Amino acid sequence: MRRPELALCSRCGRCLAVCPTYLETRIERFSPRARVALLEAGLRDEEAFHRCLRCGRCEKACPNQVPLAQTMALEEKGFPLLGKLLAFLSPPWTAPFSPRSGEPLLFLSCGPALLYPQALRRYLAFLERRGYSPGISPALCCGLPHLSLGGLKAFRAQAERILRELERIRGPVVTLCASCSWTLKKLYPQIFRGTELEEAALSLAQRIFEATQFLSPSPADLDLPPAGALHIPCHLEEKPDFSDLPQIAACCGAASPSSLLLRDLPRPFRQALQEIRPSTLVTACTGCYLKLKRTLQAPPEIRHWAEFLGV
Ligand code: SF4
Ligand code: SF4
Repeated sequence: MRRPELALCSRCGRCLAVCPTYLETRIERFSPRARVALLEAGLRDEEAFHRCLRCGRCEKACPNQVPLAQTMALEEKGFPLLGKLLAFLSPPWTAPFSPRSGEPLLFLSCGPALLYPQALRRYLAFLERRGYSPGISPALCCGLPHLSLGGLKAFRAQAERILRELERIRGPVVTLCASCSWTLKKLYPQIFRGTELEEAALSLAQRIFEATQFLSPSPADLDLPPAGALHIPCHLEEKPDFSDLPQIAACCGAASPSSLLLRDLPRPFRQALQEIRPSTLVTACTGCYLKLKRTLQAPPEIRHWAEFLGV
């Protein structure tokens, strides 16, 4: 899929300073700039593409907003048979607890109910304390794992199911996962560009909020562990300002297709962890949560930030 926005790259190199694969190797071929050049030329360099962590750090640093991570994510080949299996295993969309007009819908992606139910309970209580009566969707995957494992076709099918349901909800849609928000906000408009669903995808992108950015929880709302550290997932659009804990703003590699198979963390992440040595590492993304749980032995304990919301 060719994207005209890639032509905005001026080869300035600002993205090199933030790209984990370039920083790890110092090889231009593994830099965002080189990947943009390859994509623009219609060339595939499997190793350079595969090593990209799809973290989006280059996009945030880029003065021209070249959408490289989104493009790389949609370059996934995946395994078509696995895609069919994922589609078969995906639960049906059962009737959501629909919000009243103007109330938010909590889009319950695959993580919260399964991995951190306490975060879910506390976040719902937080919304209610602020006077909201949120609706809740069924627990359904946004499609990002479908993209990594099953490829574009599996992702498109899952994204269409979600979008057709969410287009009926006119108010804000909130998620407890930074990667889920990123997928709905950035990838859905790309995948449905030029189709009958383009408008619905663009409208949804305006209404998606990751939970740290909806109603902006403040330090007074949270009781974070004093010896902890806050992990800033790459797909989080803005750093939350509810904590003065030391921050680890390095990529853990979770967005990479093979990340869950590897017990490995990029060097900047390991270095930050060694410097801070937190007892608890608080994150805001299901992919990062799973990757860190699988890779690190406690301490640090891995927790979702909303588990620390006051009751
Ligand atoms: S992707 Fe953006 S930051 Fe990187 S070289 Fe191109 S214009 Fe510069
Ligand atoms: S998405 Fe991440 S790993 Fe890939 S080129 Fe951009 S900064 Fe580098």
